[in-house]
Amino acid sequence: MIKADVLVIGSGISGLSYAIKISERMPEAKIIIVTKADEDESNTKYAQGGLSVVTDFDKDSFQKHIDDTMRAGDGENNLEVVKMVIEEGPERFRELVDWGTNFDQKDGHLSLGREGGHTENRIVHHKDITGKEIERALLATVNKSPNIEIMAHHYVIDLITQHHVPEKIFDLEKIDCYGAYILDEKYKKIKKITAKITLVATGGAGHVYKNTTNPIIATGDGIAFVHRARGKISNMQYYQFHPTALFSKRDGMLFLISEAVRGDGAKLRTKDGEKFMQKYDEREELASRDIVARAIDNELKISGDDYVGLDCRDMNHEKFIEHFPNIYQKCVDEGIDPFHQLIPVVPACHYLMGGIDIDLDGQSSIKNLFAVGECTNSGLHGANRLASNSLLEGMVFGHNAALKTVELLEINDFNFDDLKAIPEWNEEGMKMMDEMVMVSYLRRQLQEMMSDLVSIVRTNDRLALAKKKQHEIFDAVNELYNYSIMSPKLSELRNLTNISYLIIKQSLKMTENKGAFYNKDLVK
Ligand SMILES: Cc1cc2nc3c(=O)[nH]c(=O)nc-3n(C[C@H](O)[C@H](O)[C@H](O)COP(=O)(O)OP(=O)(O)OC[C@H]3O[C@@H](n4cnc5c(N)ncnc54)[C@H](O)[C@@H]3O)c2cc1C
Repeated sequence: MIKADVLVIGSGISGLSYAIKISERMPEAKIIIVTKADEDESNTKYAQGGLSVVTDFDKDSFQKHIDDTMRAGDGENNLEVVKMVIEEGPERFRELVDWGTNFDQKDGHLSLGREGGHTENRIVHHKDITGKEIERALLATVNKSPNIEIMAHHYVIDLITQHHVPEKIFDLEKIDCYGAYILDEKYKKIKKITAKITLVATGGAGHVYKNTTNPIIATGDGIAFVHRARGKISNMQYYQFHPTALFSKRDGMLFLISEAVRGDGAKLRTKDGEKFMQKYDEREELASRDIVARAIDNELKISGDDYVGLDCRDMNHEKFIEHFPNIYQKCVDEGIDPFHQLIPVVPACHYLMGGIDIDLDGQSSIKNLFAVGECTNSGLHGANRLASNSLLEGMVFGHNAALKTVELLEINDFNFDDLKAIPEWNEEGMKMMDEMVMVSYLRRQLQEMMSDLVSIVRTNDRLALAKKKQHEIFDAVNELYNYSIMSPKLSELRNLTNISYLIIKQSLKMTENKGAFYNKDLVK
């Protein structure tokens, strides 16, 4: 058994910034970060547009950013949280700069981008690879912190709660977290790491759908294992689809064409070259993502085409290459010349607004378990996230959660004696799977079902059928789980199945359309 003061699950902006903050305040605390792939692999690494924060107080104001966030969220946001995050924003942004993150400047001032739903230019960025730059700076800081250990390729299977401790009485109202069971992928061994405080910062769940902008790590693991530990999970019906992912004939991770490209003037057109956004919203291309994604979905249904086009032909070519070098290069690699052709784009699953319920300090409904970032339902995004508010959320909640963690560690009333009774992960009677075909088949079935029945536009009939299909897939996955030796692929399938259950169940409870949630049968 490995013991830590703090166990951090996930190495994106949320997990890393939280660990750094605790390390700065408690140099004697032992902090372990476990992460299931390479240490930099995360949604954070792929963030393009940037981080939204009010810095130009002559033109912009906190109130404008608050109003934009509430408007995008369709008023379902928690106003107290929105205010807190936006007002703390400049301070957290300065910390990113202090930790060595480079943001683009022009004439000695920050270069500020604009994205859909924002009424001012307020997106600080590093070219179109802001997330990669943030991840680099945070990892460099973590690697300089002697009391933080990063364990890459360590896959968390489940949290440890009273449920696992034989002498403990399992009371649903009072669940404590003691750490996690973790699969060391190199040595194929399941380890127990116990911790006084555990943080879940496992990001989103984009791979519950066939097409997503998320990297392969985004399988909703944290939300699923907190759900299995009986933590509270809400707002899973709100999944944001990004309007403009680069069309591909292959399913899986699609390359994102940042909203900042539309912010700089790109226009949407049908394959035949017709503009269409004016039919859907007066803000046209800069309407919030739910509106633009639904508009494209509708146009594709009308035309029967596979994609619509993003027209960058009239944009300043030099500026485009300077601001979006990564996007430009990707287009060139795919044989698309963005200055002479339309870029083929489709909506793809992008950002989960719901997740683990947390309070202002990032505390979940389970004692000594915190959660931060995309895996949470923090109240910031409401029914639809305003573009570029999520990196900010990770920083602000990472900060608050770190302060609360330090406060709890200083009180120091953790009794680890009874944790000796926590058993090893039990694999008795389990078989090693000799082929993965069942796992990949069930994963494909689940993704097909979610993409066809529980996507941008839902209906009562589709949701009812999805519920039935989900049940069948769940039974098949459970059977596999009950006799197989654990592997990340099997565990991810189990987690995605839990995620689909939560999305369908919480969609069925909706009585009106809000933000990213749209059921045709609820239109009044
Ligand atoms: C293509 C793209 C572009 C984006 N652009 C922007 C943008 O411009 N601005 C913005 O604000 N937001 C953007 N976002 C969203 C933003 O990047 C994410 O919401 C944010 O980075 C989430 O950070 P996080 O730390 O919560 O999670 P992540 O960065 O996703 O980190 C999750 C971590 O958890 C680990 N993990 C997951 N499961 C397990 C497990 N079982 N065991 C161990 N480790 C596990 C992962 O390996 C990873 O290290 C974008 C997202 C994508 C995909």
